[in-house]
Amino acid sequence: MSIKNAYLAKVMEDVKKRNPGEAEFHQAVEEVLESLEPVVEKHPEYIERGIIDSIVEPERIIKFRVPWVDDSGKVRVNRGFRVQFNSAIGPYKGGLRFHPSVYEGIIKFLGFEQIFKNSLTGLPIGGGKGGSDFDPKGKSDNEVMRFCQSFMTELSKHIGADTDVPAGDIGVGGREIGFMYGQYKRLRNEFTGVLTGKGLTYGGSLARTEATGYGLCYFTEAMLADKGESFKGKTVVISGSGNVAIYATQKATELGGKVVALSDSNGYIYDKNGIDLAAVKQIKEVERKRIKEYLNYHPEAEYHEGCSGIWGIKCDIALPCATQNEINGESASKLVANGVYAVAEGANMPSDPEAIGIFQKAGVLFAPAKAANAGGVATSALEMSQNSMRYSWTFEEVDAKLKDIMVNIYHNAAAAAEEYGMKDNLVAGANIAGFLKVANAMMAQGVV
Ligand code: NDP
Repeated sequence: MSIKNAYLAKVMEDVKKRNPGEAEFHQAVEEVLESLEPVVEKHPEYIERGIIDSIVEPERIIKFRVPWVDDSGKVRVNRGFRVQFNSAIGPYKGGLRFHPSVYEGIIKFLGFEQIFKNSLTGLPIGGGKGGSDFDPKGKSDNEVMRFCQSFMTELSKHIGADTDVPAGDIGVGGREIGFMYGQYKRLRNEFTGVLTGKGLTYGGSLARTEATGYGLCYFTEAMLADKGESFKGKTVVISGSGNVAIYATQKATELGGKVVALSDSNGYIYDKNGIDLAAVKQIKEVERKRIKEYLNYHPEAEYHEGCSGIWGIKCDIALPCATQNEINGESASKLVANGVYAVAEGANMPSDPEAIGIFQKAGVLFAPAKAANAGGVATSALEMSQNSMRYSWTFEEVDAKLKDIMVNIYHNAAAAAEEYGMKDNLVAGANIAGFLKVANAMMAQGVV
């Protein structure tokens, strides 16, 4: 990747200097700035008004100690983060990630991406992200609860239904949201929509659990339809086996695709007969075990250690739904050599810049995360609306709104790419369409 515009190149250089050692954040900013070259050339006012310099700097970063007591009585200390990146178009909104790899650079990359993703949904939500280096894996329910309560004790001072509304992400599902919501309510004595992804008995929205995976497939379907194609009869490989991967598997199958592989951070399963989702849900959602347990249900399937081998499986459609930079140049080349037709990102930034270049050069239909996985946050915003109205829509109502939103995002990103002379480049189209709305709101609000 290289930024040719001198002003944008200088902004990039400053971002690297001011945020040393934060490779993921640099990568995310570089991709966006590169896409914005034709925009600032046509609209120099964004440079003159300092919009580019402002948008790469978070409005606020909160970093805190999270002490908790494990089951043996030992005090453990983790680190918590909330990056409130941009509130030009609405309250900060974005998930919380609990994973040992979390540090400030990961949260900044995710928060930065969230600004544009949230804007693309067409809903009034700003960009933020948070999390901790806490690893829920192998912890008892009581340990997870004590951690979540301690985390929320500090976070509660900085969030609110009209200020900042976190949700889940890697390592934060319904159990963790429930514990954090309970603690917020106890501390503030208010029953308010301060988190999304809540349980259905206390303010959650139907279809929120399914939304990111379903939305990814709705987006992919719209992208395929534009080329006269569909999921029907296609072989699909999906990485991960968490929230996004599970519901992407369900929807891709419903739409006529055959999902043959899933993974976790230890290895991947290949089932040429098509993945048995009920078995995966039992293993992952109920037992919280490793994906290799799938062989207990289907001994005829294969299990392989290591994550990257999954990209060597021949498929028509690849949906990376695990984590950032899981597809490098080598994996992308294997997918292309095996004739992949479309790649749509369910995880955030799962393809590294080299991989994206390889897909684009080979003419693979490529759907970037900030457009393709926006269904989760869009449905979170629908949960906020329902909380404000003290009302619940049916599953079908939420699902229909989700589908509309995803199809619109596809068409807006495709139209922006075409308008700026980069037809079919959805990476550029999503960055541009997401940027314009936020930038115009920032211009209207003055220097703030
Ligand atoms: P989950 O925690 O439910 O699942 C994550 C999955 O990815 C697990 O199978 C996990 O395996 C695997 N994984 C995590 N880290 C790594 C790693 N370093 N290497 C290999 N595999 C890994 O998370 P989600 O499904 O919610 O999130 C998946 C991706 O989707 C993330 O990038 C997230 O940011 C993105 N996303 C999620 C949204 C949501 O609504 N949940 C919304 C938009 C984007 P293991 O169990 O072994 O760790």
